[in-house]
Amino acid sequence: MSETPIGGPSLPQERRIVTAIPGPKSQELIARKNASVASGVGVALPVSVVAAGGGVIVDADGNSLIDLGSGIAVTGVGNSAPRVVEAVKAQVEHFTHTCFTVTPYEGYIAVAEKLNELIPGDFEKRSALFNSGAEAVENAVKIARHYTGKNAVVTFDHAYHGRTNLTMAMTAKNLPYKDGFGPFAPEIYRVPASYPFRDGLTGQEAAAQAILQIEKQVGVGNLAAVIIEPIQGEGGFIDPAPGFLPAIQKWANENGVVFILDEVQTGFARTGDLFAANHEGVVADVVTTAKGIAGGLPLSAVTGRAEIMDSAHSGGLGGTYAGNPIATAAALATIETYEAENLTQRAREIGAIITEFFAGIQQDEDRVGDIRGRGALQAIELVESGSKTPNSALTGAVAKYAADQGVLVLTCGTYGNVIRFLPPLSISDELLREALQVVADGIAAN
Ligand SMILES: *Cc1c(COP(=O)(O)O)cnc(C)c1O
Repeated sequence: MSETPIGGPSLPQERRIVTAIPGPKSQELIARKNASVASGVGVALPVSVVAAGGGVIVDADGNSLIDLGSGIAVTGVGNSAPRVVEAVKAQVEHFTHTCFTVTPYEGYIAVAEKLNELIPGDFEKRSALFNSGAEAVENAVKIARHYTGKNAVVTFDHAYHGRTNLTMAMTAKNLPYKDGFGPFAPEIYRVPASYPFRDGLTGQEAAAQAILQIEKQVGVGNLAAVIIEPIQGEGGFIDPAPGFLPAIQKWANENGVVFILDEVQTGFARTGDLFAANHEGVVADVVTTAKGIAGGLPLSAVTGRAEIMDSAHSGGLGGTYAGNPIATAAALATIETYEAENLTQRAREIGAIITEFFAGIQQDEDRVGDIRGRGALQAIELVESGSKTPNSALTGAVAKYAADQGVLVLTCGTYGNVIRFLPPLSISDELLREALQVVADGIAAN
């Protein structure tokens, strides 16, 4: 390849392997990375990306990999999606930054209006914009504490909320997120979640167990907020048993506790609904969003009931780059794309292909313990044959096999035994099926 290919949907939609992966140019780049970038910044697949779009990522050696990760559920509309590219180009020529809290601009307000309209809840809402998911979560907690005048925050087993000090405390898993990075923020309490494959509880039973622990160990009088991911992401794509989330919401509403849904990974068409909360008609007081919001530009948001959001004093919320004009232009174009291209429907179609495919594999492969998820957020949990013992060795081997064959898959899970599927919603059925077959071959070969 002499010229760098342009990304976006016009990139040839094919899996193409022309060197070992990583190839020589990627290896050169990784050598430079190792000499220049802090080791703590690890990489899942050490290639040198030069273009991406549709359902593929192209590397400097000319390999074209099928993308089943979307940069961790970010590029739902695809990489370099046409509307996003146009909007970013137009904005960058007008102005790149003024700081919204110094001199405001329309894009920020238009995104807030759009979020207030789209996020579930038939009440007056307000939004505030930030840069990352963790920053949105931190601000949701700040706002809930300010509103209630209380300190305690309840999070769940298997939760992931980010890597900053407060959100590390809220995240469950030690390695790699927390180990040696403490002390952590106080007043964070963890209670059991709903994990149907492992706890065998109904939604009502799991909720009762969590609520009892909150009442006995934290005390409602101290509690500002309960925060939960509607489907737990890094923890293993754990879809709670039906009724669990509505029961937690009901309890929070009745006890004056701010109910926060962290839709950072599940939001924006990913699960086949615009937000995962739509699925069971769950309505949160406050919702955090990020990943899928802006086609790859860094943006996040906190959206919630006006009386809660407005409780913080002027100047109490913000940030130099928060709601940057290029990111908000990209968000408006991204949200328009989800709507214009009916991507919630597309997410459901993708989900049906994945579930059906692995249901077939599971018939004669008992190490596929569980197939779960919603829409284009799906996972398989791998176990030792004939048991529920987590099989992280197989999981790692399958991810490695897939990478060698030109398919990018991400793993997750408290026990490191979950393969997650988060393809861009712009992927074709053919590419998706080809990639799933590679994953199945990887299971069979190990
Ligand atoms: C990724 C993620 C975060 C953190 O987002 P960053 O942008 O990485 O800070 C928070 N919550 C959930 C549910 C996530 O998946």
